[in-house]
Amino acid sequence: MGKPQKNAISPTRVEDYPEWYQQVIKASDMAERAPVRGCMVIKPWGYALWENIVAQMDRMFKATGVKNAYFPLFIPINFLEQEAEHVEGFAKECAVVTHHRLEKGPEGGLVPGGPLTDPLVVRPTSETIIGDSFSKWVSSYRDLPLLINQWANVVRWEMRTRIFLRTSEFLWQEGHTAHATDTEAIERTHMMLKVYTRMVQDYLAIPVIEGRKTAAERFPGAVDTLCIEAMMQDRKALQAGTSHFLGQNFAKASGIRFQTEKEAEDFAWTTSWGTSTRMIGGLIMTHGDDDGVIMPPRVAPAHVVLLPIYRKPEEREQVMAYVSELADTLRKIRYADRDLVVEIDDRDIGGARGWDWIKKGIPLRVEIGPRDMAKDSVFVGRRDHGHREKTAMPREAFISGLTDILDEIQDHLFQRACRFRDDNTRKVDDREEFYAWFTPKSVEKPEIHGGFALSPWCGDAACEATIKEDLNVTIRCIPLDREEEKGKCICCGKPSNGRVVFAKAY
Ligand code: AMP
Ligand code: ZN
Repeated sequence: MGKPQKNAISPTRVEDYPEWYQQVIKASDMAERAPVRGCMVIKPWGYALWENIVAQMDRMFKATGVKNAYFPLFIPINFLEQEAEHVEGFAKECAVVTHHRLEKGPEGGLVPGGPLTDPLVVRPTSETIIGDSFSKWVSSYRDLPLLINQWANVVRWEMRTRIFLRTSEFLWQEGHTAHATDTEAIERTHMMLKVYTRMVQDYLAIPVIEGRKTAAERFPGAVDTLCIEAMMQDRKALQAGTSHFLGQNFAKASGIRFQTEKEAEDFAWTTSWGTSTRMIGGLIMTHGDDDGVIMPPRVAPAHVVLLPIYRKPEEREQVMAYVSELADTLRKIRYADRDLVVEIDDRDIGGARGWDWIKKGIPLRVEIGPRDMAKDSVFVGRRDHGHREKTAMPREAFISGLTDILDEIQDHLFQRACRFRDDNTRKVDDREEFYAWFTPKSVEKPEIHGGFALSPWCGDAACEATIKEDLNVTIRCIPLDREEEKGKCICCGKPSNGRVVFAKAY
């Protein structure tokens, strides 16, 4: 026997967090870089996770009365022009279709031909094109509210891309609603944020802070942007979802008019809200360890892998029969709105087999060999307990206790992430302490600093800009549940009514 392998991922999180992230994605076989700039190929293990997220979130949306629809990928340029701030915000990162065929060029290669008189934008988000439909669908207060969601891909020509977290093309959902009153639209904005919180906390096991963006960080064209912010293991913040109150800005731009109950004419009040494949990056960076991904059971692509063990060929048949029967039994168990997904891995690759599943983050690995069979027991490894610990359990107890074990793992991941976040969150009232905390202390361990600083802010965009300029630290959000608290702005010392969340961010 060789020495036990230390950890599966090199470098470790402490050694080089960004590189660790890339290596984990590779080792888990979730996704890979595409030959196209800034784009990714999502492989089956990553896509199955996305499908589970989609299925769960889709159920939650529908429970609030939202219906799905689909709108075009291409947006006429003049649609985007209608809302001044919106076009300004997105103009810098739009892919534009300017031709409609390919021709043989002078050097023999293919070149674009047939220029379009009206170029089209590949959607970076769909407020304007959906607004056009809404303007046709709404004429009376009786047509409201309109509650629509689209599952789609969008393209934003991002300069610095990182797989899952920030890609040029990403998968997402975008909800768009129109209402007769501002009160109702604001209520919807909050309601959908709550759905995101529930999805991200209860399913992805990632704790979040619900808050409001400052004017500088708001969605282009929105009156108010709500968000959920999570802390990754490098202590940086990740925005995991946003919900926008758009006032009447987009309704005016798209002409979403309606007759009120009092027979007056008014513009509708609209909202939009989105989450993306970025959540997968958040999941990896929240739970992953130096052995790879750790999948929260409620969204895991598979829950259990059965690993048959036999030395002699004549044992194989017996062990495989026992294993298939166990798999059939387990597959009938329901967990978090799904049948349990059970894999059987019979590859003859020695120790690499167990490690493959550790790197993928499957919640439970179960080894079964002739000796276990004789005792009618199984040998179970819990992914959230690292790679060494394995426990023998009677087969029946394993089957009957399985959903409880999965719940325990789910809960453990969430509690562990909460603890990490809380350990790295502190109230900071002193400007020097603030600057020191966000400045790396040593060259060897530049990652050991910072986190979430809860600090007073006067509300002035100039202070926000100064801190961003000096430290690359931004106001992640103004927590929705913050208490009024008299203090002095961390930047200028002027009076402040309460604390905001400052952090470096993805
Ligand atoms: P927004 O429409 O800008 O409010 O973004 C909606 C959601 O998509 C947010 O949760 C963002 O975090 C996410 N998102 C924005 N840009 C990207 C990107 N380039 N790659 C992946 N997710 C993104
Ligand atoms: Zn200030």
